[in-house]
Amino acid sequence: MEFLRPATWDEALAAKAENPSALPISGGTDVMVELNFDRHRPAALLDLNRISELTEWESGVYEGQEGEVIRLGAAVPYARITRELARQLPGLALAGNTVGSPQIRNRGSVGGNLGGASPAGDAHPALLAAGRDVFVEAASVRGTRLIAIDDFYVGVKRNSLEPDELIRAVRIPVADGPQQFSKIGTRNAMVIAVCAFGFALHPRSGTVGTGIGSAAPTPRRAVAAEEFLADELAERNLWATAG
Ligand SMILES: Cc1cc2nc3c(=O)[nH]c(=O)nc-3n(C[C@H](O)[C@H](O)[C@H](O)COP(=O)(O)OP(=O)(O)OC[C@H]3O[C@@H](n4cnc5c(N)ncnc54)[C@H](O)[C@@H]3O)c2cc1C
Repeated sequence: MEFLRPATWDEALAAKAENPSALPISGGTDVMVELNFDRHRPAALLDLNRISELTEWESGVYEGQEGEVIRLGAAVPYARITRELARQLPGLALAGNTVGSPQIRNRGSVGGNLGGASPAGDAHPALLAAGRDVFVEAASVRGTRLIAIDDFYVGVKRNSLEPDELIRAVRIPVADGPQQFSKIGTRNAMVIAVCAFGFALHPRSGTVGTGIGSAAPTPRRAVAAEEFLADELAERNLWATAG
């Protein structure tokens, strides 16, 4: 197996363009399980661990997104999201805190969850609930495109990345209302979700966000429930106190 170890983001994009079948490895908490159990033997691994910008996050204002946005590097581990971003991204921080064990949370990342696109991935319900204006930054030597989170999941463990693309970051609006995440498994910890639910109120836009995991081939929204609750809150004049 070839082992590609780019030192910079540009080198990583060039390596992916030259070797579209190379499997990216970030925290390795999914990839190494596949390799160790011999479920998957890619011709090449593309190690992203030397690319420091993938482990950084920043806040800013971005076109097409209202208010302050967190641009979360693909490889920022869950443990740091919980520690550093619980105020800005409470739903994702809660979801991240249910992933695996402390060891897994120190390595595993949202970029890896998106790369694997498992319907049971815990980041997905929180990302869907965070709003329709959450975007995955997909980059290649051809440039960067923004994929709306609703268009990202296309099948069981399949996403809409092109073979030469890598995930650079996820752009997530800072919470403007309460957010929650809940997960049911066969035990309390270290467990894959039997079902997971992300929920967010967005008083600024008067909308409700939901995300359901492990209940369909892809993570998905409860669209009718979102609309019903948003209308109820509007009708009862409760949006003003929803924040
Ligand atoms: C013991 C154990 C418990 C776990 N518990 C949970 C749990 O409770 N909830 C949960 O959701 N998951 C769980 N997982 C799975 C895993 O930890 C998560 O999916 C994690 O988010 C993967 O992140 P990573 O950085 O380790 O990804 P990796 O293993 O490095 O990669 C995962 C996938 O994403 C791709 N990828 C990685 N980075 C990029 C990138 N920048 N661009 C494009 N593709 C990329 C890889 O090629 C691969 O297909 C568990 C795993 C283990 C071993």
